[in-house]
Amino acid sequence: MTPRAGRIRETIDRELPSLLDLYRRLHAQPELSGEEETTSRTLAAELERAGFAVSEGIGGHGIVGVRSSGAGPVVMIRADMDALPVAEETGLPYASRIVAKRPDGSTVSVMHACGHDIHMSVLAGTARVLADLVDEWEGTLLLVGQPAEETGRGATAMIDDGIFTRFPVPDSALALHVGPDLPKGIVGFREGIFSAGSESLDIVIRGIGGHAAHPDRAIDPVVLAARIILAFQTIVSRELPPLGFGVVTVASIHGGAKYNAIPDTVSLQANIRYFSEQVREKIMESIRRITRNIALSAGVPEDLLPEVKIAAESVPPLVNDTVLTGRVSSILRDTLGEERVIRIDPLTGSEDFGFFGMLEPRVPLCYFRIGTGGGPYLHNSRFAPDPGPAISLGVFCMALAALELLGKK
Ligand SMILES: [Zn+2]
Ligand SMILES: [Zn+2]
Repeated sequence: MTPRAGRIRETIDRELPSLLDLYRRLHAQPELSGEEETTSRTLAAELERAGFAVSEGIGGHGIVGVRSSGAGPVVMIRADMDALPVAEETGLPYASRIVAKRPDGSTVSVMHACGHDIHMSVLAGTARVLADLVDEWEGTLLLVGQPAEETGRGATAMIDDGIFTRFPVPDSALALHVGPDLPKGIVGFREGIFSAGSESLDIVIRGIGGHAAHPDRAIDPVVLAARIILAFQTIVSRELPPLGFGVVTVASIHGGAKYNAIPDTVSLQANIRYFSEQVREKIMESIRRITRNIALSAGVPEDLLPEVKIAAESVPPLVNDTVLTGRVSSILRDTLGEERVIRIDPLTGSEDFGFFGMLEPRVPLCYFRIGTGGGPYLHNSRFAPDPGPAISLGVFCMALAALELLGKK
């Protein structure tokens, strides 16, 4: 281990018990996307304690902590803060018992089922290590707590609220995610496409409602919906090039309210995944063509043809900068060893961190995964990674990467 890695390790060993404490507090107090009020305040206090000047309320509950040490590169590290509407079943002593109220008055259990509590603890730990080692680096650190990752809105909300105009524009931006599918202690990198673009669609299929006993006097949108959903199944298998990755899923279908009444409309919620813009355009074109023409073939009049609308949850593919990712992965490989830093396949999941790298001039991104070694997958009610090793590995990677990218004193 290099002397620098040794110093990082020392600080982590010293801080880990209190970081675990923070982790358990965050885990027990999860908040839904866009409602991260307590969470962001907790994280802001952590960054302030580590000597960062913190601004709150950016793009909702987003926070930005800034600490400069002379002139030099600007490095951004981002952690997401939101939890999910999942009822926790881990049986942990610090399991969430939080029930949130939705805008419509209904209630929902909330859980940190995607590990964002670990990501925040890593951010706090990284702040402490880099504050400790402030004599070794030159430049500016931007530590970002991002709201609403799970709805795909938080990153754009922070950008729209001026994160890159009110604060220094980063020369590089880093983020990580825990991965139960990677062995414990393993770091997964990939240059280029890291995770898929995701587009969510609201599709309204209209017919002409009527009596179940007289389908001849109606145009049944339930049957239309069934035909449309089946026709979607050949978009990927018959229309995309075999090597062009794409997914089309219809995840929700609603229509009708009674056994003997044919409804006027059926609503579908669909989701597509893609790595390339060409594939996205092809899938969208196919969806529009299929819905329209199946409706026409059933005699639906022009003014009642299906509507395909893109929902707000959509995010583009996350693309890692090749040079930055090479730099970060090679410093980690040199320190942790070849076998612990691996190249992984792109994910068909999605992530809104990619938005931070889409503006001009482009901010190079490096997003990577740290293995938590088995157990239930992300978003599962029993998702319970071992927090100690994950936080300590996450802080080690982030601190080492930041020191590599910042200027040296
Ligand atoms: Zn998630
Ligand atoms: Zn997540």
